[in-house]
Amino acid sequence: MHSDNESQPPKPDEPPGCAQRAALKEFHSAGRGFWRDVPEADWNDWKWQLKHRITTLEQLQRLMPTLTPEEFTGTQLANHKLALAITPYFFNLIDPANEHCPIRWQMIPRVEETHTAEWEMTDPVGEDSHSPVPGLVHRYPDRVLFLVTDRCASYCRYCTRSRLVSNATGYDFHPEFDKQIAYIAEHTEIRDVLLSGGDPLLFSDEKLEYLLSRLRAIPHVEFLRIGTRIPVFLPQRVTPELCAMLKQFHPLFVSIHSNHPRELTTEVRDALGRLADAGIPLGNQSVLLKHVNDDPTVMQAHVQKLLMCRVKPYYLYQCDLIAGSAHLRASVRSGLEIMEQLRGHTTGYAVPTYVIDAPGGGGKVPVSPEYVLSRNAERIVIRNYEGKIFEYPEAADGTPAFAAPRKIEEPELV
Ligand code: SF4
Repeated sequence: MHSDNESQPPKPDEPPGCAQRAALKEFHSAGRGFWRDVPEADWNDWKWQLKHRITTLEQLQRLMPTLTPEEFTGTQLANHKLALAITPYFFNLIDPANEHCPIRWQMIPRVEETHTAEWEMTDPVGEDSHSPVPGLVHRYPDRVLFLVTDRCASYCRYCTRSRLVSNATGYDFHPEFDKQIAYIAEHTEIRDVLLSGGDPLLFSDEKLEYLLSRLRAIPHVEFLRIGTRIPVFLPQRVTPELCAMLKQFHPLFVSIHSNHPRELTTEVRDALGRLADAGIPLGNQSVLLKHVNDDPTVMQAHVQKLLMCRVKPYYLYQCDLIAGSAHLRASVRSGLEIMEQLRGHTTGYAVPTYVIDAPGGGGKVPVSPEYVLSRNAERIVIRNYEGKIFEYPEAADGTPAFAAPRKIEEPELV
């Protein structure tokens, strides 16, 4: 299944972008590609997929003789920054004939990763400085991030945690589960634990069950979450056995990570269906990326397709200031334009919250196009998605307003 971000010519009576959006929303299998002779049972075995990941320049060159000079050099250097790894399943989504393939930009290392601007950081959202014990980040009052591993099924070139995932920079990540769990047990204000990494679904069912059981045994932990890109990189991992195990730990939410509608294949849709059938609410976190999804039509197709997979688009992240990511960072301006094209133009459930994770550790800050044009104690002036302007009376002391509110001085209209 190969297509790209390029616009297709609209039919004369169609709004622009309509045909492209429809094409992006079609579900296709990733297919077997180079692995067509592999027995079906092996292909569908997540451990086989992990064992046969593409991890070296030689493998990549053999499968993709069209590597550009930037990709060739980037891959040569990758193991000093963030290792190369791509599951065979996900590799089949790359279009070797298209330099602009949005999957390719996310997965194939490029020489630009070695360029670091002065405002870029190795720990752009200040996780290490908010870590009371190794592998635990306590930045917000009532919740913690519990890092369980530094390994992922495949590695995203823009990863915020590239300082630690894959261990290419020698970070030497060693979570200490007993200490992490003891900290949570001692801090009764923690009601929400997010397991992440690296990818927690790389653990065996037994290991994950052990961790979840220990967390569930803490009385003040109300809510568990798993952050994972595995349903997208390795849908074979989402087995009926895994879903049956996870089901024991409700309320348990899963946040997946998908950036482009082509990642949502029939295999992914089926895997997400299995998780949803186990009663697990699903959300998606996307990163706004140049060459990938910084386009309103692509993003609209993506969020609508996520709903078709029973996943609520949760966050759209402005790409963090991770070292060597400038070539993938889209502007905030383009993020705001995309949000403008989503809100009101499509289902409210499909609209994620666009956030900037404040550099250095300030936490997520929502950013949005301006809908409030002005307000005073008596009325608020707003605009809708079509740009039409409305007023709404304000009851400053909470009592209903019976008299017409005073007119606002000429509002500053955008
Ligand atoms: S799956 Fe997540 S943690 Fe792993 S490389 Fe991608 S962004 Fe980083």
